[in-house]
This record gives sequence, structure tokens and C-alpha cells, in this order.
Amino acid sequence: MDSYDVVVAGGGHNGLVAAAYLARAGRSVLVLERRGETGGAAVSFRAFDGVDVRLSRYSYLVSLLPRKIVADLGLDVDLRRRRMSSYTPAGGTGLLVDTGDDERTAASFRALTGSGADFEAWQRFYALTRQVAERVAGTLTEPLPSEVDFRARVGTEAWPVLFERPVGETLTAWFGDDTVRGVVLTDALIGTFASAGEADLRQNRCLLYHVIGNGTGDWDVPVGGMGAVTGSLAAVASAAGARLVTGAEVLAIDPDGEVRYRRDDAEHVVRGGHVLANVAPETLARLLGEEPSGRPEGAQLKVNMVLSRLPALRDPHVRAAEAFGGTFHVNETFAQLETAYREAAAGRIPALPPCEIYCHSLTDPSILGPAERAAGAHTLTLFGLHMPARLFAGRNEEAREEALRATLASLNSVLAEPIEDCLLTTPDGRPCLEAKTPLDLEAELGLPAGHIFHRDLSWPFAQDPAQAGKWGVETAHERILLCGAGAVRGGGVSGIPGHNAAMAVLGVR
Ligand SMILES: Cc1cc2nc3c(=O)[nH]c(=O)nc-3n(C[C@H](O)[C@H](O)[C@H](O)COP(=O)(O)OP(=O)(O)OC[C@H]3O[C@@H](n4cnc5c(N)ncnc54)[C@H](O)[C@@H]3O)c2cc1C
Repeated sequence: MDSYDVVVAGGGHNGLVAAAYLARAGRSVLVLERRGETGGAAVSFRAFDGVDVRLSRYSYLVSLLPRKIVADLGLDVDLRRRRMSSYTPAGGTGLLVDTGDDERTAASFRALTGSGADFEAWQRFYALTRQVAERVAGTLTEPLPSEVDFRARVGTEAWPVLFERPVGETLTAWFGDDTVRGVVLTDALIGTFASAGEADLRQNRCLLYHVIGNGTGDWDVPVGGMGAVTGSLAAVASAAGARLVTGAEVLAIDPDGEVRYRRDDAEHVVRGGHVLANVAPETLARLLGEEPSGRPEGAQLKVNMVLSRLPALRDPHVRAAEAFGGTFHVNETFAQLETAYREAAAGRIPALPPCEIYCHSLTDPSILGPAERAAGAHTLTLFGLHMPARLFAGRNEEAREEALRATLASLNSVLAEPIEDCLLTTPDGRPCLEAKTPLDLEAELGLPAGHIFHRDLSWPFAQDPAQAGKWGVETAHERILLCGAGAVRGGGVSGIPGHNAAMAVLGVR
């Protein structure tokens, strides 16, 4: 039986980060990936036949990937800042947050809300999250701090606001306008099915990870698409000697390090001194023959589009290239988000699905082929909230159509022309439009019930005092470590669990 120092089950970007660190430290590493390519949810794909556009098919923006990992591994990753932060249509006008122009942003707040109060509160709120970001981002690639140490670092001003009180209460207290409240709330709901007032604070944890990346919370565009990030990681891991095997589905993991997998219709067994699970914790439990400790649930509809042109807006004060240059929020006021949550929790596809859109090609046209670029084509990525897996169970095809119809109608409600009229068509006449439900993501990527973070995010400190000083990747078995989004401080395109699993194997303290 072949033996390696480390076998990595799953070749998502975190598995590749771990493999790269470990191979560079001289360890023999085998990565087993079920799909035909590595990268997991961080890949680019030509989704439409005859259309040369490399879409970031699943994840699309990068914030949480620490510069330390990029520098340590010498990654060839170019992250480009978006000029606009966000645009939110509201009636015939809209809220424009222009990161490069505070005066314009202030004027937009005044026009929408009738006073300067919400912009002032906005600046105070994001100064607070920025302060937290600066204080805690560095800890994400260090051993887990205790809660007491972490709290001292965060400080007494931010702790109650972000770590104790439900986001919903804070937003209601700080902001007067429902649209402004909603724009802030969305970061608490991306990848997390929750009401704003949830007592277990999973929405607060989600917000936290959305505002602390690299000490700024900025979300940048990976030039070349997500596939460029993964491509660089795979190249570094391979060059360091890691063996990356695709088409290899792990079937079972034994706590003593034996891994059984299937490739080309044949079963193989290898042994690892350590086994790193890049798969979700629920999947790891199944592979170990154990009972999972809970069932995660994803709650989003991802829609990818290629357009022949950007759609016209109702708001005459903003150009389409500005509105789509940042995050374009659709029907995401606080009240609309809460209504959609209640509808979905009651088992119905929301009547007016809240969603947000971003156009990659405005910031980075390199993902367009020459003909598409010359013709003025653009990509649109839509992330629909409050679409839990339960809505699709047993009727995925039919419910996908229904959810897509409702989502496009929701989008069209804020445009001056139907989005359908702007879709590029393939050479054989089909519109460039695809939708992925949580169940589609489970089938394609192995995300349990489509949960984009493998399970709900955890606080980035040791909740159990015994965890302090460890890496947040440990399992009940000494040789088996998590190295994916389900680890403590996992979730998102960050490489952090991969880094932390590698440090645990190398015995770094
Ligand atoms: C639609 C969508 C949009 C998102 N948008 C963003 C975003 O814009 N920005 C952001 O930061 N994050 C985003 N995320 C979240 C982010 O992509 C993930 O949290 C992250 O990519 C997880 O990386 P990972 O390496 O831990 O796991 P994964 O990417 O899930 O990789 C795990 C790998 O394990 C493989 N695998 C599973 N089972 C087996 C098995 N039995 N044997 C072998 N291999 C197996 C899978 O095929 C996969 O390649 C998004 C996710 C989704 C799905």
C-alpha cells in the first residue's frame, strides 16, 4: 500500500493551500479530488456552448485570502478593487455607495433618506467594523485565541455591537432607513439562512467574516476569475511536489490514516500519516462511518448570465456601468429580507426574492474572449438569498424554474427593461443563463445541502477553552484534521483552514 506523510481528501482551494505548504516543507502529499478538476467552489468555467467567457461559476469575489498566504506561497494572484461599493435601487432613485467619493455617497444618502443622519451612522458603523478587522485579521492564521484574549483585542465598544446583540437590533437602533438597514444586513445573510434577530447569532458571525478580510473587509475581483486563484494554487502545490489526482472519490477514511478511494472504476487504498479533510464535516463523518453532528442547509440560488449589453436602469442619476460596477442590491430592504426569510422558513419560494448582482467583466474584462469583448458582452453573477435547500427537496427541476422565474421578475422590478432582452444567446439560439440551487451544488461540489461554507460559520476564537492554542482544525481523531470551510475560521475563499491544517501537521505553535 502506498504511504504519504499527508493525504488530503478533496482538492478544493483549501486542500491545495494545505498541500502547497506541506509539500514546500518537505512532506509527501497526495490530494484526492472527486471532480475532473481541482478548486471545488473556486473555479472558472465556460458555461455556455460556443461562448468564450470564463465565468467564476460559484464563488466570485475575494476578501478573506490573507496576503500572508499569497506571499508565503508566492501565488500569482491579482486582486482588483472595484470602484463602486454598491448600488441599491429604491423607487425611481437609488442608494449609491461610491468608495472613491464620500461627497457623492453622502448626497445619495441625503436624497434617499432626507437627512445626513444615516450616512453618519454608516460611517460610524464601518469605522467600528474596520477597527475590529484591523485588530483580528492577523489572528486568523495564528493558533486560536481564547475568548477572553479575543474580546480584549476587539475592545469594549465593538464587542456588544457585533458579538453580543443580534445584528437586527443594532441595525434598527443605528439606522432610520429600511434600505440602508437592508444593505448592511445582506452581509449577515450571504451563505447563512437566518432572520436578522436570530438569538444564536449565526447572522452576526456571517457579518463578521464579511467585514474583516485582510484587515479591511474589502471584496476584490480576482483577475482572470476564480479559476486563476485555484490555478495558481495548484501550480504551486504541484511544483513543490504534491501529487494532485483528479477523478478520485474518497469512499472511506479510517482513524488510523487509511484512505479508500475509487478512480477509473477501480478501488485503491493509501495510508497517510495525517489525513486532511477538505470535505465538509458532515461528509467526513460519513467517510469515517460516524453519525454527523447536525445537518447544515444552504439557502441560495446562484444565477450566471452573459449579457449582450448591460440593462437600462430606472434611476437617471446613475450609469449602468456604475450601478453594476459594485454590488447591485435588488429588493433587499430590511423588511423585504425579513419577509423573504419568513416565507422561505414556512416552505415557500419568496414572492419577491431578494438578490444581489455583480458584474465581473466591468472590473476585469480578461475573462471575455476577443469576440465577446469586442461585441461589448458582460457577465452577471446573481446571488439570491433565502432559497433554502428544503424548498427544492424532491422537486429540484421544477422548483429551480420557479425560483429562477421569481428571481428574474424581482430583478426586472428594478430595471427599465427586462433582463431577458439583454441576454446573449449561444450560436444555437439559447440564452446564456444558468441557475444553481442548493441541491445542484450538493450534486456538483459535494456541499451538504448546498451550504457554501460547509456548515454555519463559527466565532474565530476558542469557544471551548480547551481549544485555545490549537488550530481549530482538530477532530476526535489525532491523525484526522479538517482543512476546509467547515473548520473554525473556515468559509469563503480564504485558504485559512488549509494554512491552519498545514501548521497543525507541522507542529507549529
Ligand atoms: C455559489 C457560491 C458562491 C460563493 N461566493 C463566494 C464569494 O464570492 N467569495 C467567497 O469568499 N466565498 C464564496 N463562496 C464560498 C466559498 O467558495 C467556499 O466556502 C470555499 O470555496 C470552500 O473551499 P474549500 O476548499 O474549503 O471547499 P470546497 O470548495 O467545497 O472543496 C471541497 C472539494 O472536495 C471535493 N470532494 C467532496 N467530496 C469528496 C470525496 N468524497 N472525495 C474526494 N473529493 C471530494 C469537492 O469536489 C471539492 O472539490 C461561495 C460558494 C458558492 C457555492
